[in-house]
Amino acid sequence: MRHVSEKPAADDKVAVVIVAAGRGARAGQANGPKQYQQIGGGAVIARTLDAFLTHPKIGPVVVAIHAEDGALFRRAAGANADRVVAVIGGTSRQESVRLGLLALRSHAPGRVLIHDAARPFVDAELIDRTIAAIEERQGALPALPVADTLKRETAEGMSGETVSRAGLHAAQTPQGFPFWPILAAHEKAHQLGKADFTDDAAIAEWAHIPVKIVPGSPDNVKLTWARDIAMADQRLSSASRFPDIRTGNGYDVHAFEPGDHVTLCGVAIPHDRKLSGHSDADVGLHALTDALLATCGAGDIGTHFPPSDPQWKGAASRIFVEHAAKLVRERGGRIANADITLVCEAPRVGPHREAMTETLSAMLRISRDRISIKATTNEKLGFVGREEGIAAIATASVVFPGDVPE
Ligand code: MG
Repeated sequence: MRHVSEKPAADDKVAVVIVAAGRGARAGQANGPKQYQQIGGGAVIARTLDAFLTHPKIGPVVVAIHAEDGALFRRAAGANADRVVAVIGGTSRQESVRLGLLALRSHAPGRVLIHDAARPFVDAELIDRTIAAIEERQGALPALPVADTLKRETAEGMSGETVSRAGLHAAQTPQGFPFWPILAAHEKAHQLGKADFTDDAAIAEWAHIPVKIVPGSPDNVKLTWARDIAMADQRLSSASRFPDIRTGNGYDVHAFEPGDHVTLCGVAIPHDRKLSGHSDADVGLHALTDALLATCGAGDIGTHFPPSDPQWKGAASRIFVEHAAKLVRERGGRIANADITLVCEAPRVGPHREAMTETLSAMLRISRDRISIKATTNEKLGFVGREEGIAAIATASVVFPGDVPE
């Protein structure tokens, strides 16, 4: 923090007063004033400061803080504490704004934005819109049309009447003003003991400074209650999380031997030979089994179904895939998709693709659009090209609960 007088003379940059002296009783004092509470790993006020200090049109920034919050403010603002001027605020928001404006006098800024520290989601576009609407004798107020139907409550707690919402707006901050007129208005209100203005646009209206309404932002909410802080924290935390999505691949080959059909992706296809193997030698399903096991580090198909074990002789490979899918689910995983490529010169896979997709959809218990079966020849090259066997490659993606740890 430094004194305003150390700053160079004013340029066309826009000055800012951030009001942060409130006690935030509504947000629950147990955790301290709301502007210093943590959202998304940083203090509310730290985000607010960032929004202004990173904006190219912003010049000097004054923050009105509570007399007891000096250390709290420096800790929350971090390195930004040296880029702003902290002044002790008053007992009301209005008084804190006035003291903040007074601290800017030596800068003689042409324009000033006045903002609540508890609106950390103010964005550059909103700041731009507000600044653009400030004129020599005109203020600017971001606001949103009231969407809810308005009711006036009777003394008996009944809905007395429906109030027309036509033309009604909910005011936000930052509110922007020509500097000297808004300072004069605040000084005049102070001298007259008028202390019941709830925002600066109200003071401007009272002082006959016209205020232009510009579109506010639905994101630019004021954090008022403890639940607002919790929701803001959740919103920021979910934006920065790394969902635990894992991908596994598998590869398998089986050689041909005399026979009359092959089993590929669970479908028996008539052919002049069969695939040799301990089970039904379904290369597609074997590759897929490995891909699924890979997503949870559960070894490979041989770990779970040793070829030496006679019980798997002639077994339908569906058993292997279903076992791998069960292991995935037991770890909380949800299979997002499976993709299998069969590499062979013959038989033709195309006519059986639908049946294979159907079979895999039932086997993995996922929808058909999450399954892909592709086939390619090997252009007569290598062992596949010489029709000595069939190869398969599989990829599976699984979403696991929680986030990827740092
Ligand atoms: Mg195999």
